[in-house]
Amino acid sequence: PDPSTHPLLRNLNAPQREAVCHAHGPLLILAGAGSGKTTVITRRIAWLIEEEGVHPGSILAMTFTNKAAEEMRERVQRLVSVPAAQMWVSTFHSFCTRILRREGERTPVGRDFVIFDPADQKSLMKQVLAELKLPEKQFHPKKALEVISDFKNRCLLPEEAREEALDPWTRKVLDAYDLYQKGLKNHRACDFDDLLLYTERLFRDPVVQAQYGERFKFILVDEYQDTNRAQYLLVQHLARRHHNLCVVGDEDQSIYGWRGADIRNILDFQQDFPEAVRIELLQNYRSTKKILDAASEVIANNSQRVEGKGALKTDLGDGETITFKLADEGRLEAEWVVQRIQELRYREPEAKVAVLYRANWQSRQMEEALRAQNLPYRLVGGVKFYERQEVKDLISYLRLISNPFDLVSFRRCVNAPTRGVGPTTLGKIEGAIPEGGTPLEGLAILLRAGELKGRAQREMGKFLELFHRAAAEREGQGLSGLVKWVLQESGYLQSLEDEATLEAEGRIRNLEEFLSAAAESESLGLRLSEFLDRITLAADADQVEESAHLSLMTIHCAKGLEFPFVFVIGMEEDVFPNRNARETPEGLEEERRLFYVAITRAQRRLTLSAARRRRIMGTEMLSMPSRFLRELPAEALTAPIRWGTELYQSGEGVRPGSSFTRGAGGGSVATELQRIRSFFDRVKEVPAPSGEPDGGRFSEPAEAKDPAAFEAGTRVKSARFGAGTVLASSGRGEGLTYTIRFDQGGDRRIMARFGGLERF
Ligand code: ATP
Ligand code: MG
Repeated sequence: PDPSTHPLLRNLNAPQREAVCHAHGPLLILAGAGSGKTTVITRRIAWLIEEEGVHPGSILAMTFTNKAAEEMRERVQRLVSVPAAQMWVSTFHSFCTRILRREGERTPVGRDFVIFDPADQKSLMKQVLAELKLPEKQFHPKKALEVISDFKNRCLLPEEAREEALDPWTRKVLDAYDLYQKGLKNHRACDFDDLLLYTERLFRDPVVQAQYGERFKFILVDEYQDTNRAQYLLVQHLARRHHNLCVVGDEDQSIYGWRGADIRNILDFQQDFPEAVRIELLQNYRSTKKILDAASEVIANNSQRVEGKGALKTDLGDGETITFKLADEGRLEAEWVVQRIQELRYREPEAKVAVLYRANWQSRQMEEALRAQNLPYRLVGGVKFYERQEVKDLISYLRLISNPFDLVSFRRCVNAPTRGVGPTTLGKIEGAIPEGGTPLEGLAILLRAGELKGRAQREMGKFLELFHRAAAEREGQGLSGLVKWVLQESGYLQSLEDEATLEAEGRIRNLEEFLSAAAESESLGLRLSEFLDRITLAADADQVEESAHLSLMTIHCAKGLEFPFVFVIGMEEDVFPNRNARETPEGLEEERRLFYVAITRAQRRLTLSAARRRRIMGTEMLSMPSRFLRELPAEALTAPIRWGTELYQSGEGVRPGSSFTRGAGGGSVATELQRIRSFFDRVKEVPAPSGEPDGGRFSEPAEAKDPAAFEAGTRVKSARFGAGTVLASSGRGEGLTYTIRFDQGGDRRIMARFGGLERF
């Protein structure tokens, strides 16, 4: 066919066409953001069906999200003349579910298995730990599940994992893993990771492999840089027969390392398939030049990259310079962003706008500012701030303090954290509520009558006591003081800290943000009941309609998407880069890739913002500018960033960042300057990844030695728990965990990556 006129090749550039028309054999498209990788996959599927006569049922395409799969399916259908419903376009998980439903009799769980959700998993794990007599204090069910998930993502069953050199704690977790798998099997259940794990095992069987390998003649994988070991092996098995594997990705956009994604899968593709054709796409069709230049300059600071990768070009013109706004504080930052959005709305009512942030807790002030203006928005891939479980739990305590008759809130907080109060006990308590009395009175009556025994008695005694003392706390402390007190005294915060999982860390951040919300309201003179009213109104879903035109989401969620207008908020150290991630060079590089992803979502206008002061856990703190701001090219910005100009009146027209290290002053100004300077000196000191470049292509991430590793016996200090002595350590890298005996009493397991540990 004549490439210049063929409808499936219309508008495509030469390398894109080459990729679309590539007939047989492995194909690697390693190319930067917005260069048309996903477009090429879509067109290629259509091409295979229309021009190569490939049956849609023999095509398998893997995307990263269900939404992306849906979109791809629709697009392909629009491009081809035959019904394409039979092609398999899905995420890895839904692909695996489909396979297991067909072939399940070969797995331990059969084909009619159920899929366990996190709550089911946790309750099974609790049984397992009880059976093994592993105390939950040291072996938190969620923590154990997190470790098991890591093993599963690496395709390791318990007996295989046992072959690794592991510390005693992890060995115990492996015992739990073993029993947990047996439990799942008894229930004929899979957890999420099992879907992949079992399918991968299934495909090891030469008969099954031949069957599906034969069936899927063409396999295409989008976002290949974020595949984990299990996904990688799965694809290898399937492609072994025909070698018609097309993978596309960008190592600079690998942002799921923390979930087991392995950037080497894409970097080693040509080793796996030496006959692979590699196509580079260098034309970016998404963003204007200033945006693209900014992205390139930022990512150039990473060392874990493919060498000799060509620079992206764009023909979309210079475009607008990037705006950076430094607001005085978080609320003003959000309000400023909302104002900009409103201006945009006025001029371009249909334009799509995205507000991106590093972590979920950051949505709170944006949501409040949007609601204040009645601006419809959609929270993509998450739950609205005031509807998050931990936030609702905390609110239920405050409601019950404010109004002791609130039975609904009582039911919620009585078992959050779990206090061993089952439906029977709860029924007894409610039955004991005197006419016109409160649930707490009912509880007090039961306790006095000695009706509760054992754990329930102890825990309920403490619970009741909490509310008695709350009355006094309410008088004595401000609103934020009360919230903080409830978080601590209820044991809620402690239960999350004991969990020590990534998920728990996210929940803690949300609670800390709630505390900041309370502090804000307090500063406006609000009382508890007024604060609660505000929240109720804020959480009222009917108040604000949803809008597809304005999306709020984390950067992780924005992968693969594009928007004419993009805001990235919270450009501060400890927020972005995230405070846990910046501890290691690898962590920092992944943060930088995340910033690269954020920048490259923007088509026409990119706006960055930060707050000079931000409340962290209710206390107002002076923020530090994100180091990533310093990495932006000065030409790309509307004005030099003058963070703290009022402090040192630094020069104009300098490269962003220079103003921090420049400038003169006396007294407290000099001290402040010194503080910032030493901060950036430390930033520079973050060691580069060690190891020799791998064949000149890629430097292996630093393995083994963690620079901050503490030996047993080391005296350390934790921001949360004070001084203590390291008893033992376990795990490596991300999983490195210390058992520490704190002077204030108690042994705790603390993950190194959550930071806060210093030699003392
Ligand atoms: P990411 O790395 O973010 O996943 P990508 O490489 O997958 O990006 P696409 O999303 O496929 O890039 O394409 C980016 C934008 O460029 C889309 O709007 C797409 O329609 C457009 N595009 C791709 N190829 C061309 C082309 N040859 N001519 C015009 N527009 C194109
Ligand atoms: Mg894409």
